[in-house]
Amino acid sequence: CGIVGYLGGKDATDVLVHGLSKLEYRGYDSAGIAVPEDGKITIVKTKGRLKNLAEKLETEPAHGHLGIGHTRWATHGEPSDVNSHPHCSNNDRISVVHNGIIENYMEIKSWLADKGYTFLSETDTEVIPNLVDHYFDGCLLEAVINATQRLKGSYALGVISLDDPDKIIAVRKDSPLIIGLGENESFIASDVPAILNYTREVVYLDDMEFAEITGSGIKYYNANLEPVEKSATTITWNA
Ligand code: GLU
Repeated sequence: CGIVGYLGGKDATDVLVHGLSKLEYRGYDSAGIAVPEDGKITIVKTKGRLKNLAEKLETEPAHGHLGIGHTRWATHGEPSDVNSHPHCSNNDRISVVHNGIIENYMEIKSWLADKGYTFLSETDTEVIPNLVDHYFDGCLLEAVINATQRLKGSYALGVISLDDPDKIIAVRKDSPLIIGLGENESFIASDVPAILNYTREVVYLDDMEFAEITGSGIKYYNANLEPVEKSATTITWNA
């Protein structure tokens, strides 16, 4: 699938939908976005191609300066509205987009179910926002690091929370993910064409590197919460 994320001064929905349009070759079972707005996360998602999402956004608009988006290639659970990404934690405080496959999701699902978590979808992905919620103690980065310690399989993730707001946490393992550096704005994407309209400065995340994206910049960490230095590459080709 394709994932995108945006934090900056533009309307996040516009940037996300544009980015997804450049990633639709990666999956077209469904598309969706999550944008925090007035103390809640607005999620608009729908089965089918991106144009269905664009139509839905006309009657259910979402506006903000931060968001994550997804175009799905279904692996676990049929293409449907409820299986579309972004997925939310039970309390609707954390939202996740995921590219990849969580191989041990059944085991995590029953572990979380024992703790009282419930699941709406048939996806492997839905365990992730709930696992992040389980570990959340004020710092989204730490919660995502702890959650990924439990995951087996492949993932590129974009994660947002209402309780550690105005930030996106990104991480990847065996699925692609890049960070785009703009002027006072930042992007995440599965592939470069999603962000080329906005910036040519790109950081390639390595496996198990975490990016903490905020309005004052981006910090990179390894899974031990140690800072990692990353350098940017300038993209010289056109999509
Ligand atoms: N495994 C997840 C799902 O089926 C993500 C698939 C994807 O990468 O699009 O929902």
